[in-house]
Amino acid sequence: MIPAEIRRDFPLLAEVCYLDSAATSLSPEPVLQAMLEYERHYRANVGRGVHRLSQIASQKYWDAHRKVAAFIGAAEGETVFTRNTTEAITLVAEGLRFRPGDRVVTTLLEHHSNLLPWMRLRDRKGVELSIVPPAPDGTVTPDAVASCIDDHTRLVAITHASNVLGNLLPVREIGRVAREHGALLLVDGAQSVPHLPVSVAELGCDFLCFSGHKMLGPTGTGVLWMREPTLEPLIVGGGSIDRVTDEAYTLTGGYARYEAGTPHIAGGIGLGRAVDYLQGIGMAEVRSHEERLTRRMMEGLRGIAGVTVYGPGPGPGRIGVVSFTVEGLHPHEVAHALSEQEIMVRSGHHCCMPLMNHLGLPEGTVRASLHVYSSGEDVDRLVEALQGVAGGA
Ligand code: PMP
Repeated sequence: MIPAEIRRDFPLLAEVCYLDSAATSLSPEPVLQAMLEYERHYRANVGRGVHRLSQIASQKYWDAHRKVAAFIGAAEGETVFTRNTTEAITLVAEGLRFRPGDRVVTTLLEHHSNLLPWMRLRDRKGVELSIVPPAPDGTVTPDAVASCIDDHTRLVAITHASNVLGNLLPVREIGRVAREHGALLLVDGAQSVPHLPVSVAELGCDFLCFSGHKMLGPTGTGVLWMREPTLEPLIVGGGSIDRVTDEAYTLTGGYARYEAGTPHIAGGIGLGRAVDYLQGIGMAEVRSHEERLTRRMMEGLRGIAGVTVYGPGPGPGRIGVVSFTVEGLHPHEVAHALSEQEIMVRSGHHCCMPLMNHLGLPEGTVRASLHVYSSGEDVDRLVEALQGVAGGA
């Protein structure tokens, strides 16, 4: 059980009922304190100074990488800090040196951030793009993906969990098919890494992209993990080199090769602290807490006349992201009515327009999403308020 004291670490929860964690999570006090501590006591640039403050800042920033790597079962030095998942995916799209005729396979469940970078490669570089549609319940089977993979396939880019329907995808099995054809696997872990135990070894992926700001870390933080540092860096410059003459330069090894320029140092350190915080609770505990609440939410929502809930039923096949519509009301009207009662939910297409069109929901859905600090009272408050909103429609 998650102790009630956890909520005290998130002061905003005393003011609002926050059910929009899939968009961005809240940060607990220890994360805010870690960032402030950097600003107040050892603010300096990293990786390039010998003075005391620079040494401390560099060590803490490196520690944050180490913690994040361990969090996903990766080795030290394999994680690159980015601004968000979008940037992490773009680093792969722009760094893999695609050639005309190469194929990328993805799905229609993807967030625009795991679709547009591949569409742009199609438009600019003549890369062939296959977009696998899900079954009506949102499932994407390894067979459906396999039918699009051929020997020209360089990469399969797929989400681990849908940010609309909440379903988990069989990424491990899909990865096995990809490997049989010599293709690489990129997993968009934006909605999985913050909520369940994830190990890159178990997933068998080549790239894992996720957002620090969805896992209790600061905004402006994200992560790219890659098996081999073979990508061409998107930007080069200070901090990313071993040696420069006026004729040539040698890029440095490890994550620094991909983090040219001064990074978001306080953000990285805050993200490291967020990882400590989640691990202090335990990701298995986070997962079962959210599973319990998801069941409570889905059962409550399904009991309201006029409310339709999408995605798979509660259980191990989904995360705590629940999309629904209310008959006779635009999703924005519902979110607005709930906001007036201090209940924060997301509405619209959730950056998944092609999926929404495929589902016949061009106006989108209302989406309530959970995190470790969510409570049964939050869920009950949503259900109760919706009974009023749906009843008045
Ligand atoms: N992929 C998925 C599945 C997401 O849910 C999101 C955020 N909603 C993103 C990618 C993009 O994340 P960010 O905005 O942090 O780049």
